[in-house]
Amino acid sequence: MNASSMSLFARDAYLPEGWRRNVLLEWDASGTLRAVTADQIEVPENTARASGPIVPGMPNLHSHAFQRAMAGLTEYRACASDNFWSWRELMYRHVAQITPESLGAIAYWLYIEMLKAGYTSVCEFHYVHHAPDGHPYPLACALSECLVEAAHASGIGLTMLPVLYQYGGFGAQPPRTEQRRFLNDPGHLLHLLSELNRARPETRSLRYGIAPHSLRAVSRDSLQVLLDGFNADWPGAPVHLHIAEQRAEVDACLDIYRARPVQWLLDHFSVDSHWCLVHATHMDASETRALAKTGACAGLCPTTEANLGDGLFPAAAWLEAGGYIGVGSDSQICVDWRAELRLLEYGQRLGHQQRNVLASAHTPEVADRLYRAALEGGARATGRQVGGLAPGLCADWIVLDPDHPCIAERTPQQWLSGLVFGEHGATPVQDVYAGGVRIVENRRHRDETRAYANYRAALAELAASQ
Ligand code: ZN
Repeated sequence: MNASSMSLFARDAYLPEGWRRNVLLEWDASGTLRAVTADQIEVPENTARASGPIVPGMPNLHSHAFQRAMAGLTEYRACASDNFWSWRELMYRHVAQITPESLGAIAYWLYIEMLKAGYTSVCEFHYVHHAPDGHPYPLACALSECLVEAAHASGIGLTMLPVLYQYGGFGAQPPRTEQRRFLNDPGHLLHLLSELNRARPETRSLRYGIAPHSLRAVSRDSLQVLLDGFNADWPGAPVHLHIAEQRAEVDACLDIYRARPVQWLLDHFSVDSHWCLVHATHMDASETRALAKTGACAGLCPTTEANLGDGLFPAAAWLEAGGYIGVGSDSQICVDWRAELRLLEYGQRLGHQQRNVLASAHTPEVADRLYRAALEGGARATGRQVGGLAPGLCADWIVLDPDHPCIAERTPQQWLSGLVFGEHGATPVQDVYAGGVRIVENRRHRDETRAYANYRAALAELAASQ
């Protein structure tokens, strides 16, 4: 099999209806699946055979690439009561040192790690825009463009979400000095987005959206101005927002707006299926039902949320209410969708003191339910045609190692359970295709040696400048 082949035969593949036998995948030069045929009796000549079962690649709906460089560096008690807010202080110190070159090197290696884990798309929620002194770079989108280039070079699909960060807290509090690299008003942010689109126009594997950082960092007026301008130029494009991650944030919102964050957002803005609300950890029962009804996706990042001590998302009630979910690697403390799904379920088990909490009557295998839900919700959050093996979608998938201890001697119906809940040995992700190109081959990305050397050089430089 070489990268230019346009068809692949798999003995087993996970299609929208479930596992099917003898599946022929055919795609075109744009990287779009054109036909997916199960029960194919004869394999056409010159069609390669996949070395193991095929499952769709997973979208990663929430990433802050630069934070990869600090993963593992904050695992000590920084003060008497270490929490999200003290972690944020360390993050601010780190962000002050980032340069376009180091950001590019970090992101490139990170996106390779994502691909090797089986993430084939990423939504980059990017809020570091300016030079260390807070002045814009000559090209306002300089840092965003580094991420677009890193994604393109790695082969991962990207939804790029430049972030509006304007204030230091609820009630339009003045920003802090440490936040100066993030700051824009809506007009400048929309300018940055159009500049970025001019430099790097949208393609099949690149989509743009917008991310108001949080209700802390924008005001009601600035969010309205941003959305009005954005919706005029980018109708139907993704909108992502951090919300209700921490109790202190809920309390501050109640203080200033007299409403909980999710309720306040729903009362003042038209949230719909183009929105991804990241975390949404602290919702009461009526917020959970009301937000689920909008069709917005809840962007869950269980390993980061656990790492930061955020709290537990009301996943059972959310799914019961018909809510969409997807998973993200967020702070990059873990880059593995299998671990995210596992921890999502384990958190619920610990909270409810039950097993298989997120299974349903329709899908009693909890891993299958979560995997399918994360594909569907994650795809929605990307705003791209991804998330399954079906005609019209991007040719993104994972070829599993059929001899891996997670799945060996199991039936196809048991494979996803083995993948999500089994944590044994090296990764079962053997090959990865994104946009129809085999980017990871036998667990290796074609450029990983060089990328890792450059990543280490960037880390060394950052450490020296601290
Ligand atoms: Zn985040």
